[in-house]
Amino acid sequence: MEVIILGTSEAVPTAKRSQLAMLLKYKNENILVDCGEGTQRQFKIAGLSPLKITRILISHWHGDHVLGLPGLLQTFALNNYSKTLKIYGPRGTKKFAKLLLKTFVFKEKVKTEIHEIDKDGEIIDAKDFYIEAFRMKHSIPCLAYKFVEKDRRKININATRKFGLKQGPLLGELQQGKNIVFKGKKIKSKDVTYVVRGRKIAFIIDTLFNKNCIKAAKNVDLLISESTFLESTHFDKAKERGHMTAKQAATIAKKARVKRLLLTHLSQRYARNPKPILDEAKKVFKNTQLAEDLMRIKL
Ligand SMILES: [Zn+2]
Ligand SMILES: [Zn+2]
Repeated sequence: MEVIILGTSEAVPTAKRSQLAMLLKYKNENILVDCGEGTQRQFKIAGLSPLKITRILISHWHGDHVLGLPGLLQTFALNNYSKTLKIYGPRGTKKFAKLLLKTFVFKEKVKTEIHEIDKDGEIIDAKDFYIEAFRMKHSIPCLAYKFVEKDRRKININATRKFGLKQGPLLGELQQGKNIVFKGKKIKSKDVTYVVRGRKIAFIIDTLFNKNCIKAAKNVDLLISESTFLESTHFDKAKERGHMTAKQAATIAKKARVKRLLLTHLSQRYARNPKPILDEAKKVFKNTQLAEDLMRIKL
């Protein structure tokens, strides 16, 4: 599992930071989270193919999170993207996506499936993972997303060997958590298997600090959170613009007991020196890093 950070800037791109976009690679899935202006170019620079995208999760329809969509869809159309592109987003997504597909001339060529989400909860349930959405507090409908890899039960081979059980369908049953009878002896699944905990990632983008942030981030291995301003100098500005401060992002990480925090969506005022953002967050939550464009995180 890998997350590739494609863009990290708030509102406008800077010389070093493209507008927001992140790619989550997991098995056959390539899930794009937001698609700011310049996302396609970031794919190229990162040596990735946008045609492998399977789903797009949109946090909200402010330009800096979706301006890259028309270009991306055009590339799909030009290259006969043959999958059905699944797009997820908050209230209004169907309307906005339809307008976008109508404005440009690629409508017939890209098959899309658009999911509009207006409540908290599970939005995707796949074989090995699920994704939940959480409503945020921003000037327009906005969602945070949590990717959860399902726990897997594995066979402890040394333990099953003790029973003389080496292969066959009974092992599969044990792996499903079922107890079995083998050569007249009962074998309990819990005695010969162990659980590998799934990995979790949360994306919290464009919001005021709110309770749902803690729910979305609960126990994740990696929290990627917006951190637009410094609390020490721009607390009021953050509030007025519907954004969080570095201290608030770190507070979420602490309260939700996350393992690692990555700060993104930095205001351009920190383009030259983002260090105060990092310092402020670290006072509250130590394992914090600043997101940089093209950073890759393996989990
Ligand atoms: Zn934004
Ligand atoms: Zn916004």
